Amino acid sequence: MRVSLAIPVYNEAEVLPELLRRIRAVLDDVPEGPHEIVFVDDGSSDASRALIERAAAEDRRIVGVFLSRNFGHQAALTAALDVVSGDVVVVMDADLQDRPEEIPRFLEYYKQGYDVVYAQRRARKERWRLSSSYLVFYRLAAMLSDTNLPPDTGDFGLLSRRVVDELKSAPEHNRYLRGLRAWVGFRQIGVDVERAKREAGASKYSMFALLRLAFDGIFSFSTVPLRMATFAGLIVLAMAMAYTVYAVYVRIMLDRAPAGFTAQLMITVVLLGIQLVILGVMGEYLGRIYEETKRRPNYIIGKVVRGS
Ligand code: UDP
Ligand code: MG
Repeated sequence: MRVSLAIPVYNEAEVLPELLRRIRAVLDDVPEGPHEIVFVDDGSSDASRALIERAAAEDRRIVGVFLSRNFGHQAALTAALDVVSGDVVVVMDADLQDRPEEIPRFLEYYKQGYDVVYAQRRARKERWRLSSSYLVFYRLAAMLSDTNLPPDTGDFGLLSRRVVDELKSAPEHNRYLRGLRAWVGFRQIGVDVERAKREAGASKYSMFALLRLAFDGIFSFSTVPLRMATFAGLIVLAMAMAYTVYAVYVRIMLDRAPAGFTAQLMITVVLLGIQLVILGVMGEYLGRIYEETKRRPNYIIGKVVRGS
């Protein structure tokens, strides 16, 4: 059995030495091999590049893949999955939030016949604002999706060779790999882990990038938001009919005209808001169709360095 680690790296020079030390220590105790450590450098502008090249020069197990620019976390991961050659692939972040020491536990489950072992977070060490948004998002995505998306799981986990091959055969853009992983199927199991604090540096996800990932999680795995327009329309129509009956009744029977500039204004603004939201939702799907039709690759590899 050969284990490959797939690790996207974007300006992580501060943590790389510690990361290397810890994954080497873990891999040294995994029998058989030779194992493989694939670093995908996602267009870093700090010393990460040089560190990976130097590490590869000293360690045969290390493969450095250098993308031509910053393509984003999910694209870098996709590149990593395309390059890895092992029978088992462990996907993890470079910042040591995913503890390498969990890998032997994943391998135990693999030996029991599981194709996917994903880490499920028991506790988060982030600020409550961020963690509560994660909480809401994962529940919402799971509720809307037809695929069974397990909540509170990131990309950290183990994939068998056949799962990796299936993932590679899904050429879609706006990749949300943890969703695709669930979509592939086979025998899957979640393992409780504690998500550590970032070892050094700051999160490379901007609020905007995080939001985009969340949108991918929802819009790439569900068409329920599109149907919401129909429901909203039906509800508004029902209310409009009821109100028409009432207005006619008041006019004819009581000889009064329903008055109210405020009510008029409210109705206009609320309906306008609903319409804009629906338009935006349709735009999300339209944009995704556009991205797919362009058929651009998800990433471009500038250079590959293999350990010697
Ligand atoms: N990352 C990447 N490209 C990017 C952003 C992040 O390859 O554009 C990598 C980053 O180096 C790290 C992993 O993706 O190994 C997760 O990023 P980060 O820790 O910043 O995200 P968070 O844990 O805060 O969600
Ligand atoms: Mg992180």
